[in-house]
This record gives sequence, C-alpha cells and structure tokens, in this order.
Amino acid sequence: MNERIVILGGGESGVGAAMLARQKGYEVFLSDGGNLASDRRRTLKSQKIDFEEGGHSEELLLNASLVVKSPGIPDSAPLVQKLVGNNIPVISEIEFAYRFIDKAKVIAITGTNGKTTTSLLAHHLLKTAGYKVALGGNVGRSLARLVAEGGYHYYVVEVSSFQLDGIDNFRPDVAVLLNITPDHLDRYEYNFDKYVTSKFRIIENLTNEQVFIYCADSAPVTEEISRRKIEASMFAMSASNNNKLSAYLKDEHLIFNFQYKHDAAEFQIPVSEISLIGKHNMVNSMAAVLSALCMEVPMEMVLKGLKNFKNAPHRLEFVKEIDGAAYINDSKATNVDSVYYALDGVKGDIIWIAGGIDKGNDYTQIEKLVKKKVKGLICMGKDNRALTSYFGSKLNKIAEVDSVKKAIDQAHEWAEEGDVVLLSPACASFDLFSNYEDRGDKFKRAVNKLAKTLKAKE
Ligand code: ADP
Repeated sequence: MNERIVILGGGESGVGAAMLARQKGYEVFLSDGGNLASDRRRTLKSQKIDFEEGGHSEELLLNASLVVKSPGIPDSAPLVQKLVGNNIPVISEIEFAYRFIDKAKVIAITGTNGKTTTSLLAHHLLKTAGYKVALGGNVGRSLARLVAEGGYHYYVVEVSSFQLDGIDNFRPDVAVLLNITPDHLDRYEYNFDKYVTSKFRIIENLTNEQVFIYCADSAPVTEEISRRKIEASMFAMSASNNNKLSAYLKDEHLIFNFQYKHDAAEFQIPVSEISLIGKHNMVNSMAAVLSALCMEVPMEMVLKGLKNFKNAPHRLEFVKEIDGAAYINDSKATNVDSVYYALDGVKGDIIWIAGGIDKGNDYTQIEKLVKKKVKGLICMGKDNRALTSYFGSKLNKIAEVDSVKKAIDQAHEWAEEGDVVLLSPACASFDLFSNYEDRGDKFKRAVNKLAKTLKAKE
C-alpha cells in the first residue's frame, strides 16, 4: 500500500491516528505546528513514525493522499484551505478510526454539555454487563488508539462538533445528542445555525438500522428535528410523556418505555437509586440507559450500574460530611448554566462558594434559585466585584476570600446540620489556580484536612 497519510496535529487524536495508520501499513507523517508532549514524541519514535514539530513543511503535506486533521485546527486555517484546494481529502480522526471498525458496535455521544458524564455512564453500564467495551474520543484515549489496540466489541465515543465537522462515512449504531446551547461559536463564524448543523452531522449517515437518542427538552434540537422532518423511529426523552417519547422523569422516577426491534419493556427507576444527582444528570442517565438498552444490556445490570456509578471528579462530586453538612466539589461548573443545575440539584440550604475569572456572567438566570436556596455566598477570587455587586444586596451572608482554606473555614463557620457547602464557581479558575482540576483538588484537600483537624480535637 503506498497511500501516504499525513496527520495534522500531534495531540492524543493525532498520535492515535498515526499509530493506527502505521499499524494498517500506510506511509505516515505527522506534522505539528507547536511542540509535542514528550510522551507523545516517545510513542512516535518507538513506532518509527516520521514527524516534525514547530511548524509545517508544506511540500510534505501537499504530497499526501489523505490528511487526518486534529479537532483543534479549524477548517479555516490557511494550510487546511490549501490542502482542500489541492483536492486532498481532509478528515477527522474519528472518521479515520471508524473506517477500521469492522464488527464492533459504536455508541457516539455529543451535545454541548453532559458528554463526558453520559459517555462514562454508558461505558459503565456496558462494562457492568460484562461487555468488552472501550471508552474514548473526547474523553481519555482517542478512538483511533482504541481501534489500534483492538479486542473491543463496543466503543463508547464522546464526540465533539469539531470531530463531526470532519466525518464522511461515520455511522454510529447509537447516536446521542444531549443538547445544544451557544458555545464554540468562534469556530462557526458566530452563527448558531452552523453549530447546530455541525452537531446534527452525528446522524447524517444513519439509516433505520441505527438509533438516534435525543433530548426533547432542548429546543434547538427539537426545532431542527421538526425542520428536517426526522421520523420518530427514534427515541426521544423529555420531562413529559407522550407516545413518541421513551424515557421521561416523573414523580422522582425515571420511566422508560422501551421498544427496540422485537423487545418492548416498561420500567421505572427511583431517582434516589441513581448515584448521579441533579436534573441535568437525569437527562444524562436516561440517554446512557437507552444506549445500553439498545445494546441489549439486561435491566438488572442497568440498575446495578446506575447505583454504583462514580462520575469523573469535579462534577457535583461529594467530598465529605462534616458536622452534618455535605461538602460538594463542582469545580467544573465554569459558567452560570452549570451552576443553575448544581443549585437546583442539591438538597438542603446551600453555602455557595463561587468566583474566579468572570467571563461576563449574567446572573439573572439563577437569581431566584439563589434567593430560595443559598444562605451564604463566599466569593473566592482575586476580583469579586461582579458577584458582590450582583448578590450583595440580595443575600444576608456574603464573604470575600482569596484562598480555598479561608473559604472552607468560613463555610464551616456558617454551616449547620443538613446544609450543603457547594463549590460551583460559575467562573474560570486562572486567577488563583492553574485550572479547574487544580481548584477542585485543592478544595477536596482542604475539606479533608478540616475533617481531620476536627477529628483530632474530639
Ligand atoms: P461535557 O463533557 O459536555 O463538558 P460534562 O459531563 O463534563 O460535560 O459536564 C460538564 C458540566 O456541564 C457539568 O458540571 C454540568 O454543570 C453541566 N451539564 C452536564 N450535563 C448536562 C446536561 N445534560 N445539560 C446541561 N448541563 C449539563
């Protein structure tokens, strides 16, 4: 085979694609405009894959018969334009990887929010049932790397719109579209419709043999579905029942009406038996469960998996109970929308720790909820003006701190039995921390330290 594949970008997807291409016998060249991480450089060398970094040699790239482009590089980049202008096909890594999936089944999950949680849960449910299932894409390892590894019968793939922009034949057995809200618009000429179109590419190759799962509560999703006259041979989810829907939330239960091929079932799962918390996570749970059912995961395994699932850290993560108050780390909540779900989802009066770098937040969306549930606000950041000026006159207790330790001490002073101390910042973390993970880790450490100190005093 003398097809020459060029991989553009040496992140996880690029290195994965290079490994897969090499394994399949192609001539491979990887080109990265920046610097490669040392472990990736090592991987490429050990697999004898040619690469360059710190810039692209155009003549080498224009010599390609196929280019696999990293999702981080926009289609509008001059180099990509030039490749396309030279009639060189440019595809995404999931498209490339998909070409080598033979019999295995693929569950692909996209949406603006909730992708990682839903992917992890779907993977967990299949795993609980003993399936040989891999998890990858936007979370963890690239699909290409997983395919190169081999041995899996199922792939659960978290898919971003950037990956979808570069598909051709990608046809998942189950396609999940959780929601669409304005995001990443800089990559879509600030045109929301273009972003919607990109997300819908997840179903562009589907036939009646595959399943489309979407959330009927997301208006941009349902509008596009009716505009395209998509037939309801597919599943939908909503907070209310009607005969088109197959999963919904009612009276603190998830209710599933399941009909797929020759199987039909109806069952209920009490929300209290699900380890995830919050309404948004019920949507994610419904999507993951429907995906698992499509893959014939038995009901008992679904229930077992829902009960013992542990989400990725920093997403409404329970840390500890101290003096009867629950401490919860939701450091991933870097926008107001996420905080809405957090405040809505937890039970009890809330001591809310928020703040950081404000990206022009509009707090009107959560004002009512804050007034109803928040008994104290601790602003943790270098500049807390946005929060204090909005909530200063609306809350009785408000404090400003510049470290996690001070925030926890203040929270502990205010907290009473049954309260929830919630870190859900609504802001980016770069003023005091290196990233949201660092912020969440420091929060957890400080909470655990406080618990230890109090115990030692007992
Ligand atoms: P993603 O991978 O799409 O970024 P995550 O599962 O990591 O999503 O969740 C990130 C944040 O998005 C969560 O902390 C939560 O605040 C919010 N979120 C999660 N699921 C949903 C959903 N179904 N609808 C709206 N917001 C959600």
